[in-house]
Amino acid sequence: MRVIVTGGAGFIGSAVVRYLVLEKGYDVLTVDALTYAGCEASLKEVEGRNTHQFLHANICDRAAMDAAIAGFRPDRIMHLAAESHVDRSITGAADFIQTNVVGSFTLLEAARAYWNGLEGDAKTAFRFLHVSTDEVYGSLGDEGLFEETTPYDPSSPYSASKAASDHLAKAWQRTYGLPVVVSNCSNNYGPYHFPEKLIPLTILNALEGRKLPVYGKGENIRDWLYVDDHARALDIIIERGTPGETYNVGGRNERRNIDVVLRICAVLDELVPTDTPRTNLIEYVTDRPGHDARYAIDATRLENELGWRAQENFDSGIEKTVRWYLENQWWWQPLRDQYDGQRLGLDSAPA
Ligand code: NAD
Repeated sequence: MRVIVTGGAGFIGSAVVRYLVLEKGYDVLTVDALTYAGCEASLKEVEGRNTHQFLHANICDRAAMDAAIAGFRPDRIMHLAAESHVDRSITGAADFIQTNVVGSFTLLEAARAYWNGLEGDAKTAFRFLHVSTDEVYGSLGDEGLFEETTPYDPSSPYSASKAASDHLAKAWQRTYGLPVVVSNCSNNYGPYHFPEKLIPLTILNALEGRKLPVYGKGENIRDWLYVDDHARALDIIIERGTPGETYNVGGRNERRNIDVVLRICAVLDELVPTDTPRTNLIEYVTDRPGHDARYAIDATRLENELGWRAQENFDSGIEKTVRWYLENQWWWQPLRDQYDGQRLGLDSAPA
C-alpha cells in the first residue's frame, strides 16, 4: 500500500505516518511545508526507514503536487495539512484561507488529474481522505451530540475555512466522481502536540511554575481523543469507508477545560512533587471571541459500520501524555524557546 500523507510533520499527521509505517508496513510519502507547526523531529521514529520519504512542499503549489503524486503513484492520499490553531485564525485568517481552502482545492485537483489517468483496479481502489474537525458543526448546548447529518455552522475563521474545504472535498466526489471520504474529529491530545495548544501548554507551564491560562470560567466542554486512536480511525475510514460519505470520530470523553487543567496538575503533582499544588498557578483570562460552548461527537456510525473503537481512556491518556512531555524535552524545548514571549496557546478549542 502506497500512501501520501499531507501535513505529516504536524501533530496528528506524524501519528498517522508512524502508524502506517511502523504498524501497517505501508510505503509513505510525507508532504509538508514545514510551517511553524511542522517539525521533522516529530518523524524521528520513521527516519531512515526505506518505506518512508519526506517531501518539503506546499499543497498550494500545483506543479509540486502533480510531480509528487505522479512520482510516488499512491493508492491513497490522506490530507491533513492545514493551519490549525483557532487563536491564530482570529488574529490572521489569510493563511487559513490560503492553505485550508486554496491548498485543499489544489490538492483535490492534482488528485483528480492523477485518478483520471488511472485504469482498472488501481482506479477503483484509489481513495482520497479529507481530514477535518467537529468545529465545522458550531457549538452545542448542554444536550445532544454532533452527528454526520448535523448542519454546518462554523464560528471561527479556522472552522469556516475547514468547512469550506469539506464542501470542496464532497463536491469533488459528487461532481467528478473522485473517491473522497471525509472525517470530522473531536479534539486530539497526545505526544508531539505543538506547545501552543491547551494540553501541552498546561503541562509545560505547570512544569516550569508559570501561570496556567484558562479561557473564561473554564466551562467550555471538549470531547478529547487520544491521537493514536484518531490515526487508527483514519486508516479504517480510508480502507472501509464509502466514497462520498462522512464519518465522525470521537472518544466519548467530554471534559470541561478546567477539569482537563486540574487533571494535568494532579498528575504532575504526583510525578514531580512541588511544595505548593500546581492548581495555584491557574489564571482565568478573558474569553476568546466566538468561543464555542460545547463539542461532543456521536461516533456510532464509525463504531457500528466500520468497527472502530477508541482504546485510550482519558485519565490514562493524560498520564501517558504528561510522561511523554517529561521524557521528551529534546522535542519541545526548541519549539518553546522559539515562541517564548509570544501570547502562546490560550487555546481551549484547538483544531
Ligand atoms: P498541526 O498544525 O499540528 O499540523 C499541520 C501540518 O500541516 C504541519 O506539519 C504544517 O507544517 C503542515 N502545513 C501547513 N500548511 C501547509 C501547506 N500549505 N502545505 C503543506 N503542509 C502544510 O495540525 P494537527 O493538529 O496535526 O491537525 C491535522 C489535521 O487534522 C488538520 O487538517 C486539522 O484541521 C485536523 N484536525 C485536528 C484536530 C486536533 O485536535 N488537532 C481535530 C480534528 C481535526
